[in-house]
Amino acid sequence: MRIDKRKIALIGTGMVGMSYAYALLNQNVCDELVLIDVNKERAIGEAMDLNHGLAFSGSNMKIYAGRYDDCSDADIAVICAGVAQKPGESRLNLLKRNTEVFKSIIDPVTSSGFNGIFLVATNPVDIMTRITCTLSGFNPRRVLGTGTALDTARLRYLLGEYLKVDPRNIHAYVMGEHGDTEFVPWSQAMVATKSITELCEESHGSICAQELEQISEEVRTAAYKIIEAKNATYYGIGMALTRITKAILGNEHSVLTVSAMLRGEYGQSGIFTGVPCIINQNGVQRVLPLSLSEEESEKLEQSCQILKRSYEELEI
Ligand code: NAD
Repeated sequence: MRIDKRKIALIGTGMVGMSYAYALLNQNVCDELVLIDVNKERAIGEAMDLNHGLAFSGSNMKIYAGRYDDCSDADIAVICAGVAQKPGESRLNLLKRNTEVFKSIIDPVTSSGFNGIFLVATNPVDIMTRITCTLSGFNPRRVLGTGTALDTARLRYLLGEYLKVDPRNIHAYVMGEHGDTEFVPWSQAMVATKSITELCEESHGSICAQELEQISEEVRTAAYKIIEAKNATYYGIGMALTRITKAILGNEHSVLTVSAMLRGEYGQSGIFTGVPCIINQNGVQRVLPLSLSEEESEKLEQSCQILKRSYEELEI
């Protein structure tokens, strides 16, 4: 009989946090979910709302609004808390304010005796994940961000449509910063075990490199388009968080493009960025280094430099 419960502490019960919570409930991913927010009323209301759906779900999850002490026996602390950019506010200032938000979160989570895995969604996610690692003092393998997991899902969906192949048989990744400098290493993109570059060469023009580049541009700008249309994005990231959570709780050893610390891989050290990693119950079991072309390696280097500069400007 299984007696150990799978427990998640969710900090930040806004649109992203609650889309994640809703996906957890519908996919029956954990046994206990504690909701924590600086706005306590909101967390209480969200817990009530989810609990009222329990009777219609296949789950008997225990869901409640709690305090940081409740993180002590959680397997994963998921952070979706953040403040929004004010009109005219610089990116750096927003980063500074989100760093203050994280200081008010990480310290009480670790003080509770929490000994699990940190999973971060707050933007800019690569930097906020690095900040979480610094503030917590945790082993970097136990601190990860959503990175380019959602961008990779968007890429596989669009490639599936273009090539008329089930996205599950498309193995292609978006790498680097979750943001403007992210890129697709096409040399590593496959349909089953067939390289997409080769497919392109053999297709006599029906699959063309230019259209593939348009797809990667569409992936890079997807969030801007959604925000323009509905002010925020949340369902996709909620499902990406759920997928990563399942890989951790199920000790799956699945390959996902999360934001992980590079420790020599791709010639980088100390930087968190989106790279394919093997995810298991310990978090990032290892980074899976891909054989990037020279041009792709340069793109990753450029992305890492931008992340490094932003982090250093913060003077943590
Ligand atoms: P939101 O404003 O709806 O929710 C933010 C929540 O954080 C609020 O409930 C707020 O009360 C809470 N909060 C603020 N300060 C806090 C503190 N000190 N302690 C605890 N809780 C605090 O925002 P949202 O739409 O849910 O977005 C949350 C974050 O997720 C943003 O940073 C957003 O950019 C990011 N995001 C990331 C991705 C991704 O791919 N990684 C995708 C979409 C959104």
